[in-house]
Amino acid sequence: MSENLDDLYRDIIMEHYKYPRGKKRLEDPDVTSEGKNPVCGDEIEMKLKVNQNRIEDISIDCLGCAISVASGSMLVDAIRGKSITEVRRIASAIKAILKGEKPDEDLELGDLEALEGVKKFPVRIKCALLSWTTLIEGLKNWENGKKNEVITTE
Ligand code: ZN
Repeated sequence: MSENLDDLYRDIIMEHYKYPRGKKRLEDPDVTSEGKNPVCGDEIEMKLKVNQNRIEDISIDCLGCAISVASGSMLVDAIRGKSITEVRRIASAIKAILKGEKPDEDLELGDLEALEGVKKFPVRIKCALLSWTTLIEGLKNWENGKKNEVITTE
């Protein structure tokens, strides 16, 4: 983790890294999605309970660098209880922010704004995106009737 991230961003990221949300056992998930980022060695396993097109519950187990773990932890706070449509909107906004673009919509991103600091470190963008890619691919699989998939981010 670079020392150049703005202090505020760094504090938020480190707090999520130390106390990641969503690290628990989730029984009988509707979707299991695994993501790997070979560039950094980050690995994530995500489980979702989906009810009436809402993310009812989520667990994330991420082994990796501070940014990948923090991003996954923020994701848990951001999407629990949200509809799949809202989740996709948030994921698009995160991608935009990391590419240095303005998100299409005005969303309340909370701690997720801390990820904006990562855009200055291109090699770290994949770390920050891993949990979001794993989530979106997992939802795609769920819609296609698949329950488990291993996703390797490119
Ligand atoms: Zn990483």
